Amino acid sequence: MNKLIILPGDGIGPEIVAEAEKVLEELRTGFGLAVEIEHAPVGGAGYEAHGHPLPQSTLALARAADAMLLGAVGGPKWDRLERSLRPEQGLLGLRAELQLFSNLRPAILYPQLAGASTLKPEVVSGLDIMIVRELTGGIYFGKPRGIRQREDGQLEGYNTLVYCESEIERIGRFAFEIARKRSGRLCSVDKANVLEVSELWRTVMTRIANEFTDVELSHMYVDNAAMQLVRAPKQFDVMVTGNMFGDILSDAAAMLTGSIGMLPSASLDSQSRGMYEPIHGSAPDIAGKGIANPLATILSVAMMLRYSLDRVDLAERVEQAVGQVLDDGLRTPDIASAGMRTVGTREMGAAVVAALRS
Ligand code: NAD
Repeated sequence: MNKLIILPGDGIGPEIVAEAEKVLEELRTGFGLAVEIEHAPVGGAGYEAHGHPLPQSTLALARAADAMLLGAVGGPKWDRLERSLRPEQGLLGLRAELQLFSNLRPAILYPQLAGASTLKPEVVSGLDIMIVRELTGGIYFGKPRGIRQREDGQLEGYNTLVYCESEIERIGRFAFEIARKRSGRLCSVDKANVLEVSELWRTVMTRIANEFTDVELSHMYVDNAAMQLVRAPKQFDVMVTGNMFGDILSDAAAMLTGSIGMLPSASLDSQSRGMYEPIHGSAPDIAGKGIANPLATILSVAMMLRYSLDRVDLAERVEQAVGQVLDDGLRTPDIASAGMRTVGTREMGAAVVAALRS
């Protein structure tokens, strides 16, 4: 029996997670999925319940779980708290404490939504990229960091971009494995023409490539990668990169699909324990209105089934069910287009459950 912890979080988080839970319930009762589910607060909800965005009780449950499903965290209510108490610290804390070093961000354009992209349909139709981002190292965690006063009286901010060989090897091997299961092409993104860290990154990636002779490795500078993602994104299959470059590139790739409410993500440790969440935030502007798109969260359940719960069969069922509701013309307002039926969060969730049953 796998242990699953559900972290609804803030804003639209509880609304979209509720729909994903209906899907999980259907998988339990109708498809023999053996999971034990518990709930815990995180982010602003954690702060409200226990005075901290990552309460000890939540962390303890997370440590014992095989997988976590997160809605989203954050909102204006908590923006003025000191940094260590802000909702996003709940997320960063979970990633760091559980060593979720590998972030998987697929950017898939569903054929039914080709018109949603700002790019021409011929540039993006059929797009299916997997970005593998290192998540627990690099400049977001490097020390020293801070804001200090210089001798001339000015303030200066400083951060440290650092990666050691084992960190690069770990994410590299992970990305090669993913590439091996897809088209066998991996593009490593760095800035080796300027940064020593990237020089080492490139050396280590090239070394690992010797262990994966069935995968074709290429290298690209990050500025070119950003340009190519917009110019000809279909040239990519799997991309691997460091924390900050991955943060930026994966958002750009997500936008190629034109629908932030459709994209899931996974953050995994070395044992394939993971946290699964939609890539979007807590959308305070639409929270409580019942119109948030739950599909990214439902597709996060599919990723969980594939990567942590070893149920690829059920992952495919869920993905097919999502494809089915799109084929049937159901759209939440964020992906609405002329001639389609606009539905709310609950109706969309119910439609996915019905498609699973059919
Ligand atoms: P956001 O992703 O929450 O919203 C951006 C826009 O997309 C908004 O107009 C929103 O209404 C829309 N949107 C997002 N998800 C949607 C969905 N499922 N269905 C329909 N529309 C959707 O980003 P933001 O506005 O920059 O941030 C809002 C809050 O979320 C902030 O507090 C931010 O810190 C937090 N945030 C959290 C995460 C996370 O939990 N992983 C990620 C990003 C931002």
